[in-house]
Amino acid sequence: MNVFVLNDGCVREDALTQNLKNRLKVENHTITTDYKNADILVYTTCAGTGRCIEACVEMSYFLQYCKKKTSPLIITGCLAELIGKLDFVKNRDDIKIIAKKDFVVPVTNYINEENKKTTKKLSLEHATKRLCSQDIHIQFMLEDGCTNKCSFCKTHYYPKKVESANYIDSLNYLKEKISNGTRIITLSGENLTLYGIDQYKKPILHKFIHELAQEEDLNYIIVNEITAQNMYPELLEELVRNKKVVQVSLQLESASDKLLTAMNRGHNLEKYDYIVKKLQEQGKIVDTILMTGFPTETEEDLNKTINYIKERQIYVEGISSYEDFYAIPSHTLEQLSESEKKRHLMIVGQAIKSSNYEVLERAMSYPFTNLSYVIGHDEKRVYLANSMTHYSIKKNLYELPLGAVVEEAPKRIVKRLGSKINYQYRY
Ligand code: SF4
Repeated sequence: MNVFVLNDGCVREDALTQNLKNRLKVENHTITTDYKNADILVYTTCAGTGRCIEACVEMSYFLQYCKKKTSPLIITGCLAELIGKLDFVKNRDDIKIIAKKDFVVPVTNYINEENKKTTKKLSLEHATKRLCSQDIHIQFMLEDGCTNKCSFCKTHYYPKKVESANYIDSLNYLKEKISNGTRIITLSGENLTLYGIDQYKKPILHKFIHELAQEEDLNYIIVNEITAQNMYPELLEELVRNKKVVQVSLQLESASDKLLTAMNRGHNLEKYDYIVKKLQEQGKIVDTILMTGFPTETEEDLNKTINYIKERQIYVEGISSYEDFYAIPSHTLEQLSESEKKRHLMIVGQAIKSSNYEVLERAMSYPFTNLSYVIGHDEKRVYLANSMTHYSIKKNLYELPLGAVVEEAPKRIVKRLGSKINYQYRY
């Protein structure tokens, strides 16, 4: 069958979608981008912001309208249940709502008219995103949900309990991946700092990282989605001391204490900066996400953020522009006009471009960026990745097989070969 698969969800849904597509291909289905003629359509929705909700409802409406009458449309993801209650979906045999969090097996069951179960092993696989071929670098979703209440966040209208992946199962699964060639693991979650508080009644991310790092063949651990609000001493100590932890994503949003309070982030800049300094003193790369256009934001607030990021050499993974929604507390604050929000985004975007480049340049001389892996080829180039960046070099200059380890920093390769390398920021 020709299956059209569209994901509007976040990182977790990305991993699930990747696994779904792979499974469908193995089962001899074809993935198509032709939604008008597809035999089955799978659409994954998102509840991330008010605008996401609107866009996902519109897209669901569009797909059911454009598809062939006989082709089923399967709707999954965070909004599946809500969309199932809308008039254009009710009493429709050709629309199937699958609201299960791990939708891979339920979707394939529906397509293949089977009744298979999501085994423990499969749910671990589905929480894994392959970031390059041969699984050399994988991203593993260790946790889901957040108990914090940032004033702009979906946790106010879409609360999710913290759900941690089983400690032993996850560890054994990742050890097996390492023995099969995985060398870089990115640990992710919605608020990974909270890993363990549901099943083990206390946060235990530090223990997990410590034990994972004992695997000799694992080279790097990247830790995503860490919050200053929930940081605890044992975790900070582990992140700082563990030599395999090379990069930590510590979400900031803004360096203005006035805005951090209005955002209800649960920390001020001093607390955030204390963590950053500790990590950077041990040569770790700190990256972050910023938000612009939050209600009451002034140019002074923007400058504080820009200056702080530049001074501290923090890599900015992304900048999100604040989106207002009636169901979030920050809706009651004085909103900026759309044009002002755009202007703020542009100011920070421009400034961050140059500071990101500086961070990347500096990172190229870090000892741990000396180890890179060959992750792919095309006719002309060899593609490599280390913990910080992906880059490529001309094939005729450096012929390397897939999976080969290059024990040189990209800059030194350039010098030795007298050639140019294309750097690419991660993501
Ligand atoms: S820490 Fe992140 S997920 Fe949790 S409430 Fe704040 S923005 Fe939302």
